[in-house]
Amino acid sequence: MIRYSRYLMPTTKETPSDAEVVSHRLMLRAGLLRKVASGIYNYMPAGLRVLRKVERILREEMDGAGALEVLMPAVVPSELWKESGRWDAYGKELLRFKDRADREFCLGPTHEEVVTDLVRREIRSYRQLPLTLYQIQDKFRDEIRPRFGLMRGREFFMKDAYSFDADEAGATESYRKMYDAYCRIFRRMGLDFRAVEADTGNIGGSSSHEFMVIADSGEDAIVSCASCSYGANVEKAECVPSSAPVPGATKGKPSEAATGADDSGAAKEGAPRKVATPGKRTIGEVAAFLAIDPATLIKTLLFETSVGDVAVLVSGAHEVNEIKVKNHLGAEYVRLAGEERVRERTGAPSGFAGPVGLSLRTIADHAVRSIASGATGANEKDVHLVDVVPGRDFIPEGYADLRVVREGDPCPRCGGTLRFSRGIEVGHVFRLGTKYSEAMRAVYLDEGGKERVTVMGCYGIGVGRTAAAAIEQNHDDDGIVWPISIAPFEVAVIPVNVKQADVMAATERVAADLDARGVEVFFDDREERPGIKFKDADLTGIPVRITLGEKNVAAGFGEIRDRKTGETLRIPLAELANEAFALVARKKAECAP
Ligand code: ATP
Ligand code: MG
Repeated sequence: MIRYSRYLMPTTKETPSDAEVVSHRLMLRAGLLRKVASGIYNYMPAGLRVLRKVERILREEMDGAGALEVLMPAVVPSELWKESGRWDAYGKELLRFKDRADREFCLGPTHEEVVTDLVRREIRSYRQLPLTLYQIQDKFRDEIRPRFGLMRGREFFMKDAYSFDADEAGATESYRKMYDAYCRIFRRMGLDFRAVEADTGNIGGSSSHEFMVIADSGEDAIVSCASCSYGANVEKAECVPSSAPVPGATKGKPSEAATGADDSGAAKEGAPRKVATPGKRTIGEVAAFLAIDPATLIKTLLFETSVGDVAVLVSGAHEVNEIKVKNHLGAEYVRLAGEERVRERTGAPSGFAGPVGLSLRTIADHAVRSIASGATGANEKDVHLVDVVPGRDFIPEGYADLRVVREGDPCPRCGGTLRFSRGIEVGHVFRLGTKYSEAMRAVYLDEGGKERVTVMGCYGIGVGRTAAAAIEQNHDDDGIVWPISIAPFEVAVIPVNVKQADVMAATERVAADLDARGVEVFFDDREERPGIKFKDADLTGIPVRITLGEKNVAAGFGEIRDRKTGETLRIPLAELANEAFALVARKKAECAP
């Protein structure tokens, strides 16, 4: 049992000015966290209790899934990162330094290299596979913008796991086990979450899911289907080509081309017409000036990429998804070309580029194909083309899904309607393939004695970010409303006046009874006004509160209050511990996997 008078949980009334999101504000106000430097914190006793509870759930589920706990170093020699090629590729998030002998090191932001090195030294035979190792460890990432407290820190705890399999089928099974464990983990924490399909970013690999806690303050935009379980990061969400052709661009200005299009969108006759569009560069300006639907504009964007310059066409109603372009091209990088480059390659200032007569590698989004007759830049200053027919006036190298999903788009799985929401990425599962095992030669001998490369997966969960996300999802005007599985304490026991011997004696009895049954009791024995104690109990979010006041105790009663519902029950003293114990048990059952 913890007694507040002997504890360090410095609560504050004031709202810290630099805390933008509610979880950060409440963690500071509840005395869970104190800043040391940007993105670097002291975890106070009660805050650490929360993190340890998150970690306990992580350990139980990782162990349950057959993963083995190890602990790798925070300080990592540069040689390993050079082997994987990430020493040069990772950029400034990697904090690098030298030791006294001038050898280079980094603080590990993630541990693929270290674990692959460990495994290549220890694993010889297919009999030792599959193997999944995990750790809960202090990570460092020199984030450009550390913010939101534990949500995006620079030094933070992460549970990172790595699977090694003999082949793709095994890797699929290891991935599925981790995916299932993650679902259990977040359910046990009482969180409303979704697993969404995600882009694999620069870590490489063939498939990945992000686990998102749904919250308006989330940094990630996600789409989910209203009818099925499909969910995806907006970066990744697939857009299915619509079969309905978009009617002609020259609304109110009849043209042969607009009506001459056949089903494939390709008209046999006619040609685009030039129209003067002085100073009209943006989709909005051009569409308004020509009095046409933006969906009939063929937007042409020039990208500089690792595989050369590429023009990307999308409908004026859509935005280019650079990640899809990059993946489609198999490029190392893609970036929007600057004004000068656009002039050089198209002969016109940006805003007037178009695919007709453009001698440049050109790819188009599916939606461009269904534009029966469109408008586009003429590669000439202040001029656009109308009556442009894809397939007749220009032929892109190919059509692909290259655009950003929009709210209301059809679900790629079931055709239902896609909705947008915001989420906090608390966990991430990746299939890595052989990216690291190949580069670092993590090989084993198969049954026939042949050397093969292991197939890997990696799996991360941010400990502090998960705790912060839990607060984003579970709070009210008075403070935190912890899910009981990760609350710092389960029951707050408050004697209204510590100077009254009867009250104190009754309180001690209830507290001792609960403590003996394994309930985590926080005994507020401070000589404070009751209002302050109640406010602190609400602020710190302890799920169950027991209050003993003079009149009630004299009458043989005490009070139990549910932090979440606010429901208060007056219970005979003899039953108080039993009732509180039962309420704790019900709350625990709500956090069942
Ligand atoms: P983000 O896109 O938010 O930067 P990430 O893709 O870099 O995240 P991963 O490399 O997949 O994150 O790391 C695994 C997990 O570690 C994340 O799901 C998140 O919970 C946690 N995490 C990542 N960066 C931070 C950070 N700066 N502070 C706290 N937790 C973090
Ligand atoms: Mg990151």
